[in-house]
Amino acid sequence: MSHPHPELDAPGPLPQGGLRVTALGGLGEVGRNMTVFEYDGRLLIVDCGVLFPEENHPGVDLILPDFDSIRGRLDDVEALVLTHGHEDHIGATPYLLRERQDIPLVGSQLTLALLGSKLREHRLKNSVQHIVAEGERIAFGPFDLEFVAVNHSIPDALAVVIRTGAGLVLHTGDFKMDQLPMDGRITDLRAFARLGEEGVDLFLTDSTNAEVPGFTTSEKDIAPVLDRVFHQSNQRIIVACFASHVHRVQQVMDAAAEHGRKVAYVGRSMVRNMAIAKELGYLDVPPGLLVDAKALADMPPEKVVLISTGSQGEPLSALARIAQRNHNFVHIEEGDTVILASSLIPGNENSVYRVINGLTRWGAKVVHKGNALVHVSGHASAGELLYCYNIVRPRNVMPVHGEIRHMKANADLAIATGVPADRVVIAEDGVVVDLVDGKAAIAGKVDCGYVFVDGTSVGDITESSLKDRRILGEEGFVSVIVVIDSQSGKVLSGPEIHARGFAESEGAFDEIRQPIIDALTKAGAEGVDDAYQLQQTIRRVVGRWVSNTHRRRPMIIPVVLEA
Ligand SMILES: [Zn+2]
Ligand SMILES: [Zn+2]
Repeated sequence: MSHPHPELDAPGPLPQGGLRVTALGGLGEVGRNMTVFEYDGRLLIVDCGVLFPEENHPGVDLILPDFDSIRGRLDDVEALVLTHGHEDHIGATPYLLRERQDIPLVGSQLTLALLGSKLREHRLKNSVQHIVAEGERIAFGPFDLEFVAVNHSIPDALAVVIRTGAGLVLHTGDFKMDQLPMDGRITDLRAFARLGEEGVDLFLTDSTNAEVPGFTTSEKDIAPVLDRVFHQSNQRIIVACFASHVHRVQQVMDAAAEHGRKVAYVGRSMVRNMAIAKELGYLDVPPGLLVDAKALADMPPEKVVLISTGSQGEPLSALARIAQRNHNFVHIEEGDTVILASSLIPGNENSVYRVINGLTRWGAKVVHKGNALVHVSGHASAGELLYCYNIVRPRNVMPVHGEIRHMKANADLAIATGVPADRVVIAEDGVVVDLVDGKAAIAGKVDCGYVFVDGTSVGDITESSLKDRRILGEEGFVSVIVVIDSQSGKVLSGPEIHARGFAESEGAFDEIRQPIIDALTKAGAEGVDDAYQLQQTIRRVVGRWVSNTHRRRPMIIPVVLEA
């Protein structure tokens, strides 16, 4: 649920000199991160991402943060800071820009390049972009921003420091503390310490792995595992991973070069993102290593590695089609090796295991994080978070990026290091937190619901239409059409009963026809002649009968026509 504080009212006016922090997504869920900072009547937004739908969101493509509470104030927005290029941080930006196209976009080189290709897809050509790097300081209105390098599962991620008259805020974005990262760019703890000395009034920290004890394993520890798998493979190798995980792709390339194999990308987002990463120098591709995927068909299988999308079992992705043997030019063969070098995002288990089973059925050997160290997380574990709290010594803490259990675990870590419990604020989406006179506290709540994207429609699909879809999907529907005489109220024709996704055999509904006629006749005799009320009568009779005799609750669509 997005509203854990139903008792909260709309917040009062922000006290003079105070800073207001409101998440419109990302708190209480992993996805659609978006936090709005307000100072002196001006707004700064950090991240604008999407949440991917689960199985209880049939037909939904994406879920956006709820812009409603700032929709009337978009002209007050000074800038949108994007901490890194993951979909849960940049994916909803095109939808925000549709409402005001010239909001200045601030982010690192890679982040803005990945966003740029997304904006082009949405035909947003006039965006205003400010590329920043770690160590830089730039002001937008009353918000004096500084950027700090952080290490994550995508290169070029940044933490952001926001200085206003209300104090200093440090927002980590997504981060971990890999001490030997592939690109040598570690989370800048010296900057964290310097900011701690200056005094961090509010520290917003990544909660994703707060429940995981210890330290997140280094990305480089995957290399020997990949090497072993490559050694043991004497046929084709297919590696699936996130299309933004440049360092993971780099490791696969290095292993391929070492073992004399050529590499090809499969999947549109992999091709697009890796071209950007190579062009900007984040990915090092040895000359001659990369070939076109279609050319691989003519090469010996033991000389080939495919790097593919679809590590979450997405039904239309390259890997899912390979597993069903209906991919255009990749035909899985007995003895091939498939490596799922990725996390398993909760909610995707069924689709991922469906893909693994599909591949296994064709005789492929499937290596995944359940049976080998082919994935490490991009987020700081509890040990790393403790380090950060001790280095930063924040005055107030607000856990971000996680379900409530993650945020609670993160809050407990802060308290364990000595942050007073009344200065650790757990807020979910829409909850308003004010930093006034150096103390952060909950000040109220704004409406913050799910905004569903379905095809070209944004926000038209509601929770109640999804409920209908779930009923249709799980229980099917029954339609009942009756024609009655508008004068006498007598049934002239019908009931004509049709069903889908339910007992569809002829005769299944024979026994309910007469009770429907009886109920309508009785209602007519009692003077009911309103079509809506008669339809409700049909719904009641059919609903009770279906429930009693079939133990089902299909959607019932009664139609009463008057003649
Ligand atoms: Zn991320
Ligand atoms: Zn994230």
